[in-house]
Amino acid sequence: MSSTLTDLSMLELAAKLASREVSSVEATKASLQRIAQVDPKVRAFLRVDEAGALQAAEASDARRHAGSPASALDGVPVGLKDIFLTQGLQTTCGSRILEGFVPPYDATVVRLLKEAGLPLLGKLNMDEFAMGSSNESSAYFPTHNPWDLTRTPGGSSGGSAAAVAAREVFGALGTDTGGSIRQPAAFTNTVGLKPTYGRVSRYGVIAFASSLDQPGPMARTVGDTAALLQLIARHDPLDSTSADVATPDCLTGLEDGVRGLKLGVPREYFTAGMDPEVEGTLRASLEEFERMGATLVDVSLPHTKYALATYYLLSSSEASSNLARYDGIRYGLRAKDARGLKELYAQSRGQGFGAEAKRRIMLGTYALSAGYYDAYYLRAQKVRTLIREDFTRAFQQVDALVSPTSPVPAFKLGDKVDDPLSMYLMDVYTLPCNLAGLPGLSVPCGFTQAGLPVGLQILGRPFDEARLLRIARAFEREHDFFRRAVPV
Ligand code: GLN
Repeated sequence: MSSTLTDLSMLELAAKLASREVSSVEATKASLQRIAQVDPKVRAFLRVDEAGALQAAEASDARRHAGSPASALDGVPVGLKDIFLTQGLQTTCGSRILEGFVPPYDATVVRLLKEAGLPLLGKLNMDEFAMGSSNESSAYFPTHNPWDLTRTPGGSSGGSAAAVAAREVFGALGTDTGGSIRQPAAFTNTVGLKPTYGRVSRYGVIAFASSLDQPGPMARTVGDTAALLQLIARHDPLDSTSADVATPDCLTGLEDGVRGLKLGVPREYFTAGMDPEVEGTLRASLEEFERMGATLVDVSLPHTKYALATYYLLSSSEASSNLARYDGIRYGLRAKDARGLKELYAQSRGQGFGAEAKRRIMLGTYALSAGYYDAYYLRAQKVRTLIREDFTRAFQQVDALVSPTSPVPAFKLGDKVDDPLSMYLMDVYTLPCNLAGLPGLSVPCGFTQAGLPVGLQILGRPFDEARLLRIARAFEREHDFFRRAVPV
């Protein structure tokens, strides 16, 4: 039963749990079996928590038996990017410097999933401190794309995307600072949603760039993504940037279609350098939206060309400040033979951080230093405002924006590791949304001839996640790409 069971969507499994056709223990065991079978090839997991997951599944079955399930997804097993603090379970954020760190408390979103009764299968691989687009900056090992094991699943939430795509988990949580949920979703034929900044709590989420970071759901279908968002979108007094807004109802209008909606197509997001197959798939998808009754509107986001530089200045500045806390004393790794405090700091950080984290710390420290602050950091903040205003203007004309998620499909592992700039260029279509704090999602929209997934990005107004999901669902309904068997 296990292989077909793990092919179900979260909502399909939830229905079978509700009708008692399957138990949560059966579903969790099926996932664990699938992990044992494919993860030696995919390598999505840093840590599997078999005992914890089974215990939660038993508790879920008991609740079900007593007629009091804790939520619509009670008993559906999922995975977590290793950026989320999990009480009693090692959390490394893909870095050596946190090796051995066992958090004393749960991130708010982890607590919410536990309270909703979802068994947590373990911690998923990621780029070190979420810095990267390929999972190759993980201090441990790169994750492989289940659609082609020689390729990256994207990053930084690559482990989450690969595990969802390979049917190892039914859904997962990732984080998105500049595209880290959407780009891996696009590379793996899965759905990923970056909520509006402030929609989901960052409490207990290891900080990379605090003004951009946002946790969000990753799943195989739009409905699953909506159901998962429903559980984690809560105001949280423990996060001062958490928005005090009601949890959105993303499921009720999900099937309402796109008839009458105006969809903006940003000129600047169809640029030279885009893979021709990605462009072809995207253009065909746009025509489909028209056939379904939407109107396409040509829009301009004129400051798009500055987004990459702005993002890398601001995110690195914030990272240099956030990562100052890893001193070799408070968490994780401590250098062995250091003499004196300064040497202990220097050696622990020298040994603990990888090349990409060091590069960003140096870039950010430079941008924030006296004499350069005005020219770099402050200037970037001003450009950020211009980028946000571009979107505000566009949303006066249209209901949402549609574009490719990534200019290329999944690239080969090893292809870009020695060329950070070409890696950064992967993010051109995803970064502006974070700078503006907007919600964005990636939904599967086809495959290249070589069988690599292509993703369509939908961006919306602040707190308009329900509409984004509805647009994505209209598209998904015509295709059901998620039924396509993954070759791993
Ligand atoms: N790829 C981008 C970066 O390297 C985005 C990462 C992210 O969203 N966490 O910073």
